[in-house]
Amino acid sequence: MKARLLIIFSIFSIFFISFIQASPINQRSTDVCVKCKSYVPTSPLDSETAELRECLSYINGTIVYRNNDTYYESIKDCNCRIMIYPLAIIYVNNTKDIQEVINCGNLLNITVVVRSGGHSFENYSLGGKDGVLVIDLKNYNKITIDPIAQTAVVGAGNRVGPVYYTLNEAGFLFAAGSCPSVGVGGQTTGGGSGFIGPKYGMASDNILAAEVVLANGTILPVVDNSTHSDLYFAIRGAGNGGFGVITSITFQLYYIPPTMTWFNASYNISERQNVFDAFNECGPKLAENYSLYMTFLPNSIEEDNLCEYEGSNYTVFWAFGTFLGGEIDARNGLKNFLNHSAPIIEPTFNETTWWETLVRFSADGYSDALINPTFDPEAFKVKSFFVDPPGLSHEGLDALYNFINSVECKVVVMFELYGGGKVNDIKPGLTAFMHRHSLALLQLEMKLSGYDQDTIDECLAELKVFAEEFQDKYTSYYSYQNYMDRELKDWQHRYYGNHFEKLVKIKARYDPNNLFNWDQSIPPSY
Ligand SMILES: Cc1cc2nc3c(=O)[nH]c(=O)nc-3n(C[C@H](O)[C@H](O)[C@H](O)COP(=O)(O)OP(=O)(O)OC[C@H]3O[C@@H](n4cnc5c(N)ncnc54)[C@H](O)[C@@H]3O)c2cc1C
Repeated sequence: MKARLLIIFSIFSIFFISFIQASPINQRSTDVCVKCKSYVPTSPLDSETAELRECLSYINGTIVYRNNDTYYESIKDCNCRIMIYPLAIIYVNNTKDIQEVINCGNLLNITVVVRSGGHSFENYSLGGKDGVLVIDLKNYNKITIDPIAQTAVVGAGNRVGPVYYTLNEAGFLFAAGSCPSVGVGGQTTGGGSGFIGPKYGMASDNILAAEVVLANGTILPVVDNSTHSDLYFAIRGAGNGGFGVITSITFQLYYIPPTMTWFNASYNISERQNVFDAFNECGPKLAENYSLYMTFLPNSIEEDNLCEYEGSNYTVFWAFGTFLGGEIDARNGLKNFLNHSAPIIEPTFNETTWWETLVRFSADGYSDALINPTFDPEAFKVKSFFVDPPGLSHEGLDALYNFINSVECKVVVMFELYGGGKVNDIKPGLTAFMHRHSLALLQLEMKLSGYDQDTIDECLAELKVFAEEFQDKYTSYYSYQNYMDRELKDWQHRYYGNHFEKLVKIKARYDPNNLFNWDQSIPPSY
């Protein structure tokens, strides 16, 4: 078989870790990301800072003010499209430190925000606007496993990769997202979607309890259904919405399966309608052991999606996923989908271990990238859409295809199958995560590093117009709250549906003065 398919997994990984890796485009120029370095720090004699310094002087952890040498490093969050300049970043060591920061925020009337992994798409963990106090939880990195109870208490400042690693060493896994450098605190409380989600649900569905420090400094060591059922509801799907400082989370664990299989299939882009028909029709009927993703790029954006096969050239796109089990079962269960979707070459199936699958999927083949994750900021913008059954129509797919092939900035499209899985089995009213009816989550990631500012502005304007029309015409009303988008209209209901009003009441109970706030946090009144 004469085929030239470039390493498929380098493409797959784009979606999971490309945000943190240099792409050919951003190697050409990094001016957008360099912008933040030109910041001129505020004078340390600034009276506002002096008062603040006095107030924060009892803190045991490290404090980085605007005039510190490490300030730039400390505000280097994942997305450098928007730069935000907090007054100080406080690397708290204990709950007393957290209480001190909260106390100063209340006394001096300064907004307080929490940062775990710093991967908010809108940099809300730096406040989303200048002049706030950031409680950074990176020192909250303990992981305590109870193998009998099959649970783990995980410090909220951990990144997902090291948690997977520690659990794997003990024979367990937890349901979370795929990118290793994302923080546990932000991701798992705002949903947390990953490739074992169809079997075990969102990360937020697997939160059994949490420790939370409230806006008045009160420590709630156990927030669960029996102690604070309202707050417990909120932190499972809207925990990144400003209810308090979540310092640790108790997760349900699962045993690692003896074998795992990952697979991929390549398609001719001109066959996209048939392939998506198969995805819409067969996807929701797959066993919960499968994850399934579909992804495409603009035509011939780079060599990765060019394929020469039996003398002809194709632009390709991909289906890929995982199966909790061995290759034979994986092949059998996927037959219907593959028969209907007709890949251009024989699909690849690879039976391996849970850990190797993680390394492949999440870390581009490098286990160290999972164990010690790092990231380089990139400039990007993401739009998300929940697509309800029966799936995206032919016109919708055409609109999407035409858009990514007409806009100047590169857009990566990814569909993640939700239909038929555990996420949809859970009652919508049980947690603050209400997206329980969808067939797929669609994500558009526009890459902006390397373009000049005029082009970026044009691309963003085009994306905004496209996304609004597209959502009106072709998808459900809803978007994913972990993919925050500050220009999303009626985000309150698109993220939280009719839970929003309930969340406002809970916020009013636990943070009536709105100490923890940013553009898209839950307000105490509405
Ligand atoms: C490269 C990349 C890959 C991603 N992959 C996935 C994925 O596979 N699945 C998925 O579901 N999502 C994914 N996301 C989205 C991600 O889940 C969200 O951006 C999430 O909010 C990031 O969490 P964080 O702790 O890293 O971010 P932060 O920026 O630290 O926090 C995000 C928000 O949560 C709040 N917050 C953070 N920690 C706490 C806490 N301990 N207590 C209270 N509030 C807190 C912050 O104030 C902020 O508003 C990805 C994002 C990126 C950039």
